[in-house]
Amino acid sequence: MNEKVFIKELETLNILYTKEMLEKLNVYYETLIYWNAKINITAITKKEDVYLKHFYDSLTITKIIDLNKIASLLDVGSGGGFPGIVLKIFYPHLKLDIIDANNKKILFLKKLVEKLNLKDVNLIHSRAEEYALNNYDKYDLVTARAVANLNILLELCLPFVKKDGFFVSLKGEAKEEVSNINNALLVLNGKTEDICEFNLPIEESLRTLIKFKKINSNPSKYPRRYDKIKKRPL
Ligand code: SAM
Repeated sequence: MNEKVFIKELETLNILYTKEMLEKLNVYYETLIYWNAKINITAITKKEDVYLKHFYDSLTITKIIDLNKIASLLDVGSGGGFPGIVLKIFYPHLKLDIIDANNKKILFLKKLVEKLNLKDVNLIHSRAEEYALNNYDKYDLVTARAVANLNILLELCLPFVKKDGFFVSLKGEAKEEVSNINNALLVLNGKTEDICEFNLPIEESLRTLIKFKKINSNPSKYPRRYDKIKKRPL
């Protein structure tokens, strides 16, 4: 996706943009490629691919949630900053926290946030299931793209969400995973609010956005330790 098509797609998504935001995205691309040569952040490196499969893909979350109504966002397992940093560029009002278990990625994100001069971004090197224990019911919105299967992801992410707040999972094909979450939702007091399937422009691969609402706080024994979550997913 070249920049011209990217801008057209921003307009289709009704995302307001400025020249400065587009410049920041360019600096993001350059910084990503520079650091990717030193530490492994992404296998996608061609500019048109990064614009489509990282930048545009991150912004598709706006198909299912209005970010203008969100104040605090936590992106779990953000890696190279997807979707968290891309959303922060286009929605600068967001108070963004990012958590990732991989310290190299957190160090890359620190350099990136400085370079892009982003304010109100907090980068946390920790495992989500450990950090959650002191951060229940805190965020309006939690996101995760390409981190784990949904039944595991719900236990990692839903505890962070405020009552009546949302967790949005960004996935490819997800029908089977979606059919396997009833127990996790029951135990963690969440419900599926909306599911949006669409094809990525140009390459046409399937994407699924799943939006969960938190009905009430979850029992304090969740999230469990990761070995337990993995061995016996809810
Ligand atoms: N979200 C990014 C994207 O879509 O490009 C990165 C995806 S990468 C495949 C998964 C990331 O999740 C890695 O950076 C990994 O360190 C992080 N991760 C996996 N499990 C995690 C956990 N339990 N807590 C925090 N980070 C985790």
